[in-house]
This record gives sequence, structure tokens and C-alpha cells, in this order.
Amino acid sequence: STEVKIAVFGRAGVGKSALLVRFLTKRFIWEYDPTLESTYRHQTTIDDESVAMELLDTAGQEDPLQREGHVRWGEGFIIVYDITDKGSFEDVLTFKNLLDEVKKPKNVTFILVGNKADLGHSRQVSTEEGEKLATELACAFYECSACTGEGNITEAFYELCREIRRR
Ligand code: GDP
Ligand code: MG
Repeated sequence: STEVKIAVFGRAGVGKSALLVRFLTKRFIWEYDPTLESTYRHQTTIDDESVAMELLDTAGQEDPLQREGHVRWGEGFIIVYDITDKGSFEDVLTFKNLLDEVKKPKNVTFILVGNKADLGHSRQVSTEEGEKLATELACAFYECSACTGEGNITEAFYELCREIRRR
């Protein structure tokens, strides 16, 4: 089976851990230790092909060298922002630049995820802004909620796996 290594990046509090737990268990966990950094293994079948996923949940308080190591380790990335936090959206470019810097001259395989779509009443980043950024960065875009499961989180992870395999 194919092995794919995926690392999840994004400002603290955007819901990286919640998204991973939702993908892996179809459940939502309200409180998740924000300092916890963990890796998960997940065996699945995508388009009739068996895929062994290794998933890294980054925690953000790592030093620059550690972070660089995480980028080197990864073959594909999920950059997450929180639709209710404009600053987390602005951070996306910082993460993208880091990926480019570490992976150059290779192209980085990644997707963009706007999380907390259930909190539409406190939205600070429109769907259109998310789409526009994804077009500029030439990546797939998903708006979703780890809380309610809306937005097809499973498909987002699968699409990233497909892109990694296609390389
Ligand atoms: P991380 O620091 O990026 O790993 O973020 P966490 O997964 O720890 O989530 C941070 C906070 O946001 C927690 O209080 C979660 O309950 C909450 N949260 C995460 N995802 C969602 C979501 O989709 N909707 C809502 N309403 N809250 C969320
Ligand atoms: Mg976390």
C-alpha cells in the first residue's frame, strides 16, 4: 500500500487537533490539549487503492528547527485557518512561505482549510476570500467545521492523498 505523510499547520486555536480527531473518529472533542503534538496512523482505501496515512498534528510552540523538521518530514500539508479569526487567515501565507522555503526547489503539495464554518455569525473571513487565496496559491480549498462535520473533511484529506500520489 502507498504511504503518505501529512502534517497539519495553522495558528494555535484554529482547530487542527479537532479536525484530525473528526477525520479519524467522526467525533468532535471540545477541549484538546493545545500543547500536545501527536502523530496518528490511519489505514484506508482511496479509489480502490490501499493507503497508509501518517498524520502529524503540530502544536506551534516548537522551535524553528523542529518546525523545519516537521516540514521536511511531510509529503503533503493542510494549512488551517479559522473563519472567525482574520489573523489566522493572514498567517496562512507565513506557513505557505515556510513550506516553500524548506521544500524548494520542489513544489509543495497542500490544501487550504477554513475551519469553524458553524460559527457563521462571527465570521471574519468570507468564503470568497478563502477561494481567492486558494486560487492564488493554486491549491484546493475546503470550508468546514470540525464541530458539526459539515464541509466534507474526509474528502479534503482524501484529495490531499490523491495529490501526493500523483506527484
Ligand atoms: P488547535 O490549537 O489548532 O489544535 O485547535 P483545537 O483543535 O485545540 O481547537 C481550539 C478550540 O476551537 C477548541 O476550544 C475547540 O473546541 C474549538 N473548535 C475547533 N474546531 C471547531 C469548529 O469547527 N467549530 C467550533 N465552534 N469550535 C471549534
Ligand atoms: Mg492542537
